[in-house]
Amino acid sequence: MTKTYRLPLVGTSWKMNKTTSEALAYLERLQQRLKGQSAVSVFILPAFTALTEARGFLRSSKSNIMLGSQNAHWDDAGAFTGEVSVPMLKEIGCRFVEINHQERRHWFGETDETANWKIRAALRHGLSPIICLGEEKREGWPEVESFLRNQLARLLQDVDEEEAAGVILAYEPRWAIGAAEAAPPSHVELVHTMLRQLLTEKYNASVAKAIPILYGGSVNLQNTAELIALTEVDGLFVGRAALDADGFAQLVEIAGETYK
Ligand code: PEP
Repeated sequence: MTKTYRLPLVGTSWKMNKTTSEALAYLERLQQRLKGQSAVSVFILPAFTALTEARGFLRSSKSNIMLGSQNAHWDDAGAFTGEVSVPMLKEIGCRFVEINHQERRHWFGETDETANWKIRAALRHGLSPIICLGEEKREGWPEVESFLRNQLARLLQDVDEEEAAGVILAYEPRWAIGAAEAAPPSHVELVHTMLRQLLTEKYNASVAKAIPILYGGSVNLQNTAELIALTEVDGLFVGRAALDADGFAQLVEIAGETYK
């Protein structure tokens, strides 16, 4: 899969927030604020209901902001009431699908196995899965390493080298999501370096090196500069701090200035 974005990659999932009219008002403001900035590739993952109108707005305003969904089913079609498939998302202009967020695991029973099916469905149709992964509780080494080694192996099971070029990882330790503070920078750097090493063990060096590894978990205006400057941090995945368009625009500007 050819990549059509540059690093750093900074994005947000709005989770179950923003009606379609609220989504459009946000995008209009964000587009105004980010017009002309090209240092950072920006993506937004709205609710399913806002995707089509968001796409229309971004197209008509010739925006560089990219669009994705927060979930997808692993089958292309069938008797799966309430679900949305990857081909449906592709047709309306999604380029990314978030998979395996902690909230999907906690509330909706998502597992490494079902996440793997979804990852492979996204790749099969040429969408980039943004694969969340991360330890559940705050632990030290080597527990974290062993947890992530196993989780990554299960998530990327049967994803071959060609498909892997479309993958994006988002390291999101559960204990840092919706928390008072992000994970400590030293921890983030250690984990990202280890994830890069694990990718290198599985794929050839150029594929492994090109897979973006984002950090997510209580990113805000105060810690963006420090987090984005860390080794092997290729971007940020933002929750609460991106719910306001001006705040997110400011965060993107800081990321563009400090990314190395
Ligand atoms: C998240 O839920 O993935 C997340 C990163 O949220 P927050 O930034 O609010 O911690």
